Amino acid sequence: MQYQDTIDDSRQYLRLALELIGKYGLPTDPLNYCIWYEYASEKNKALNAAIDRHLNSRGVVSEKDSRELYNQYIANSEEVVTTLVQKKLKKVFFEIIGAITTTNQNFSQSENNLASINESMALNLSETDVEIIVNQIKQEITSLETTNSAFKDELRQATSEINELKFKMAHYRNQAIKDPLTRIDNRRGFDRKLKEAIDKAKTDDTPLCLIIADIDHFKKVNDTHGHLVGDNVIRMVAATIKNSIKGKDLVARIGGEEFAILLPDTPVEGAMKLADIIRLTFERLDLKKKNTGESLGKITLSFGVTSHKKDEVTSDFLNRADEALYQSKKTGRNKVTGR
Ligand code: GH3
Ligand code: MG
Ligand code: MG
Repeated sequence: MQYQDTIDDSRQYLRLALELIGKYGLPTDPLNYCIWYEYASEKNKALNAAIDRHLNSRGVVSEKDSRELYNQYIANSEEVVTTLVQKKLKKVFFEIIGAITTTNQNFSQSENNLASINESMALNLSETDVEIIVNQIKQEITSLETTNSAFKDELRQATSEINELKFKMAHYRNQAIKDPLTRIDNRRGFDRKLKEAIDKAKTDDTPLCLIIADIDHFKKVNDTHGHLVGDNVIRMVAATIKNSIKGKDLVARIGGEEFAILLPDTPVEGAMKLADIIRLTFERLDLKKKNTGESLGKITLSFGVTSHKKDEVTSDFLNRADEALYQSKKTGRNKVTGR
């Protein structure tokens, strides 16, 4: 994150942020300062749009929403990464231009020197004259070689900086789509891969299924055992789902305790079966607290399963899986519903 606000502006944004934090009854913690400071400054357009969406639909921004907003729009802001990359790229660019200019100047100097030597060459040169001229030419050759090798070094340096930049960009790009808690894809990664999977299913004319899974009564886990244990449960759920899928399948954390599993080239019967296998895996687990061995009780998940219909818009596909999940919740949880 980089802030270049003036002291007066930053004070103004903080006052506004505190006012908003108070208005929506949120805890005055650093996470909220950060989110609402950026909201007040109106510089992070995507963040403001996401917050406005929450406010318009529910009138509040929950703790879970805040965490997600921070992860998605601040911690991994593409804007910040792009600015850093552009700065570094400009630096390398000017280094190359500088090297070219210096090399050109040195070459012109040598060209002039050689021209003067040429002019000084009369027809009848004494042996001493010839020796002087030979030495002068040798000197120019050495100077040309030095310039050439310095230029090569500059280019080598620039190449290595560009390679480092490419590596960093790939790393940042990967970071931006990873959920830091579970190391699986986050919502942004899921959205990107969902689009790719839909395109591929259309091109190849293959079935594509989606499972949305949500931990049951997760609030109770946090309330009973605390957030840290809650975080560990989320990690364990992500890892367990990841271990249950294979090949082209992928899992993403699309909400606080909500996961999406995308199954390319899979008919709906297969997706239903897999969802039930995952459901049973959790039902059979007996989770214990790491330090005390105290049992956490049953951790169950509810599932919504659907398959992509040709030519439907993505939101219809997602909504249908959500509706199926809602049905599983409504009819008792720890269930799989297909739509
Ligand atoms: P339901 O069975 O209807 O899904 O009930 P629920 O309690 O699981 O659902 P609800 O949406 O009411 O609450 C979800 C809870 O998940 C609230 C939120 O604090 C918690 N949560 C979200 N993200 C995280 C996280 O990263 N870590 C922890 N520990 N808790 C989280
Ligand atoms: Mg839940
Ligand atoms: Mg949920």
